[in-house]
Amino acid sequence: MTARGPAPERSQVVVVGAGFGGIAATRHLAGRDDVDVTIVDQHNFHTFLPLLYQVATAGLEPADVAYPVRTIFGRAANVTFRHAQVVGFDLVGRRVRLAGGDDLAYDHLVVASGAAAQFFGIDGAAAHALPLYTLGDARRLRNRLLTVLETADAHPETVDDGAPVFVVVGAGPTGVETAGALVELLEVCVRHDRLRIDAARTRVVLVDAGSRVLAGFDPVASRYADETLRDRGVELRLETPVASVAPDGVLLASGERLRADAVVWAAGLTLDGTLAATLPGGQAPGGRVTVGDDLSLTAHPEVFVVGDAAAVPRGPGGEPCPQVAQVAIQSGGHAARQVLADLAGAPRTAFTYFDKGIMATIGRRAAVAQFPRGPIVRGTLGWLGWLGLHLVYLIGFRGRIKVLVNWCWRYLDWPSGPRLIVGDAESDP
Ligand SMILES: Cc1cc2nc3c(=O)[nH]c(=O)nc-3n(C[C@H](O)[C@H](O)[C@H](O)COP(=O)(O)OP(=O)(O)OC[C@H]3O[C@@H](n4cnc5c(N)ncnc54)[C@H](O)[C@@H]3O)c2cc1C
Repeated sequence: MTARGPAPERSQVVVVGAGFGGIAATRHLAGRDDVDVTIVDQHNFHTFLPLLYQVATAGLEPADVAYPVRTIFGRAANVTFRHAQVVGFDLVGRRVRLAGGDDLAYDHLVVASGAAAQFFGIDGAAAHALPLYTLGDARRLRNRLLTVLETADAHPETVDDGAPVFVVVGAGPTGVETAGALVELLEVCVRHDRLRIDAARTRVVLVDAGSRVLAGFDPVASRYADETLRDRGVELRLETPVASVAPDGVLLASGERLRADAVVWAAGLTLDGTLAATLPGGQAPGGRVTVGDDLSLTAHPEVFVVGDAAAVPRGPGGEPCPQVAQVAIQSGGHAARQVLADLAGAPRTAFTYFDKGIMATIGRRAAVAQFPRGPIVRGTLGWLGWLGLHLVYLIGFRGRIKVLVNWCWRYLDWPSGPRLIVGDAESDP
């Protein structure tokens, strides 16, 4: 690729989003004396999305999966954090517009603003189902699940058949993990918290339009997840599209109505309505922004789009990568290296994804890990691998230790876990 002329001294880089992509890009630039980096996020923390389902099902505290951005970059004198919502871009004037009227000038821009929950236009889904995409979503879901259980204990007559029904829509990794963890939450609530709920009649139903769970995995992994979920008491309803969602349940395309006390939405991603949708070039599947091999916009080579927001090519001219954390981390790092190449007057390079494999857990001592080459690891070994990998990628030494201690504690003392309904407490005067 062509080399670009040397950029001015101390180039200004703005990174939008402190998710996996934005943090990786900023880490590559932190501590240098030739760039000033401003990382902007609407939250003052980075969220470790793969463990959100554990917050939602009262396995981990919100603070276990969120880490302040200022703490991550506290020692890097060239990195500034800006807590603000970005509302748009002036690509010609090279400015990022913030809510409230401020703007930030840049020489290079890295957009890593992620995606959002996809409701596929299904009637009532956005209004009545509970998505799991942000820390706020996870807290809302935890409050709702625990409130349903308390209500069933106190007023069984208000719950049909006296036993709650939870429907999870979407049998990808998030839906499978949430359904598995929900069954365990119910077990703890009944066996240890002595909630007066008929465990045998309480239902966790996992619904998907596709023909198998974990469709992105090898069929062997899907079969294992399917059998493990059924063994643990999850009802699987595959090849079952949802037609609409109402406050009291879902209507299936077959015409069957499935009563539910809570509907968890884990069905897909979209760029619609997100910040990246305001950028040019959103023709790729899912509305993702089309980027060149170096991950920049064709018309604005000083602008990079990475992670979930972009159709990150697997290699030069290749198919888009999946929207997973490794792609965000690697593409964020690649964008930062291209910024440094520009500063050095060196040629840019094409991004190539290094696939390290995919994993999903189904509950205690049950997970699948699938590597690009080699066997599919299942069961306890897969689960230990899953635990180890998530600890490695959690940000901050203290965060890792805290989560490890919490997991060990929960493993030894099953009833422990933050089963707190905080929604009402937060609205107290
Ligand atoms: C529940 C769940 C579970 C997952 N589990 C896994 C898993 O097990 N393994 C895996 O590999 N992947 C998993 N993923 C996918 C993975 O988390 C994403 O691919 C990854 O987070 C994408 O990183 P990103 O940096 O592109 O976006 P994100 O991590 O989503 O970060 C985007 C950031 O941009 C900020 N932002 C957005 N808009 C604005 C704005 N207008 N102004 C300011 N800031 C803004 C957000 O606040 C956020 O901090 C999961 C995702 C979810 C939702």
